[in-house]
Amino acid sequence: MNTEEFRKHAHELVDWMADYFENVEKLPVLPNVKPGDILNQLPEKAPEKAESFEAIFKDFKDVIMPGITHWESPNFMAYFPANKSKASVLGEMLMSTLGSQCMIWLTSPAAAELEEQVMNWLCDMLGLPNTYTGVIQDTASTATLCAILTAREKATGYSVNEKGFDLQKFTVYASEQIHSSIEKAVKIAGIGAAQFRQIPVDDAFAMIPDALSTQIEEDIKAGFKPICVISAIGTTSTTAIDPVSEISDICKKHNIWHHVDAAYAGTALVLPEMRWMSEGVEDADSFVFNPHKWMFTNFDCTAYFVKDPVALVNTFTITPDYLKTSVDEEVKNYRDWGIPLGRRFRALKLWFVIREMGIEGIQEKIRKHIAFGKWLEGEIASHPDFELMAPVPMNTVCFRFTGADSDKLDELNEQIMTTINESGKLFFTQTKLHGKFTLRLAFGNTNLEAYHVENAWKLIQETAKAL
Ligand SMILES: *Cc1c(COP(=O)(O)O)cnc(C)c1O
Repeated sequence: MNTEEFRKHAHELVDWMADYFENVEKLPVLPNVKPGDILNQLPEKAPEKAESFEAIFKDFKDVIMPGITHWESPNFMAYFPANKSKASVLGEMLMSTLGSQCMIWLTSPAAAELEEQVMNWLCDMLGLPNTYTGVIQDTASTATLCAILTAREKATGYSVNEKGFDLQKFTVYASEQIHSSIEKAVKIAGIGAAQFRQIPVDDAFAMIPDALSTQIEEDIKAGFKPICVISAIGTTSTTAIDPVSEISDICKKHNIWHHVDAAYAGTALVLPEMRWMSEGVEDADSFVFNPHKWMFTNFDCTAYFVKDPVALVNTFTITPDYLKTSVDEEVKNYRDWGIPLGRRFRALKLWFVIREMGIEGIQEKIRKHIAFGKWLEGEIASHPDFELMAPVPMNTVCFRFTGADSDKLDELNEQIMTTINESGKLFFTQTKLHGKFTLRLAFGNTNLEAYHVENAWKLIQETAKAL
């Protein structure tokens, strides 16, 4: 493809992209495909000869698009959103054009320095203490793994990195409601899933600090070395909020690393009125949240903040001769701030988003999403045939239909969900609370309006009635 052809096709694609944004709401959120439907349309062998861009783009539209789940639709209310904005898409276009690989300062000085400053902005925007230093990671899973590895190394004077494990057994703690990425990180870090302690939660699904304290003391008595506690601001199931401040106190008493997982709900801290959730975060050791979930920055982009960047860098540093530069003493070489050597220029899209929306623009949307959550909470609480299954601090609502024989409710609720998801009008997912099948709506799409949430609620009521 020569430059003139590139120019032509790029313009066509941008037109397609604008149309997509315009029309996505009308598309079925979940595609109507069966396993293998797409695979069977793809040639078994890669083409020997070059193909025209027209042919490739045609297949994108005819073969790939019918198998796409539309995360960009405001009717996508499953999992957590991975929302985006047009500014972030434009930023991503420039990122891929530059193709910068930002492993060290020298491999793109502007990327390293923009990352540093955008992380300072975010720290400020969320009301995090200025004792935190930020770095961009690919996902929250990676950031949490970094936290556990740093905790392990700090607790052992960096000896596991050097000598491997001795006979000492480490323990890691989180609530029963914690995200699966934490158990995965415990396994990868060599701690062993058997040494992962899941602490009971209260009626609001938040960790019970006394139970944490007791478990830590028992473990110490039994010869374990507790190294890390992970608390959640916004668990995945219900956006429950652990008592960060009390957990910080327990960690300080026993000299344990406290990592705060705010992967989803961290974005809500742009609102001063939501900062009650992060009380005590100044006494934690690290904090992670995903601009790629709720802060209008397309996947992937995770913000990881640490209080002791020296411990982080000591855990991950490697300096082979071929990467040494004359400015290493003066700059941040982010390859030492995480797991992969190579790094994308993610700061660029984040910078675009923050500038194009402004802090006020971001606050306005987040405030609106939370108000929709409150509205739906009220609707469900006052409906005779539905019950709320968890508190609704933000925009994730867990509830179930109760207007039938109690022994059929799990099945009925599942049927409501499946029927609606198959219709393509809405896509949402389930969770299990108190052993019961629970409907769960999480809405944080960039273009979400009140009528999307009202329509979803209407659809659920009508479907329940019809079954
Ligand atoms: C989504 C989520 C994660 C994992 O995020 P990734 O960026 O996909 O790794 C971790 N913790 C919580 C609470 C989450 O909601």
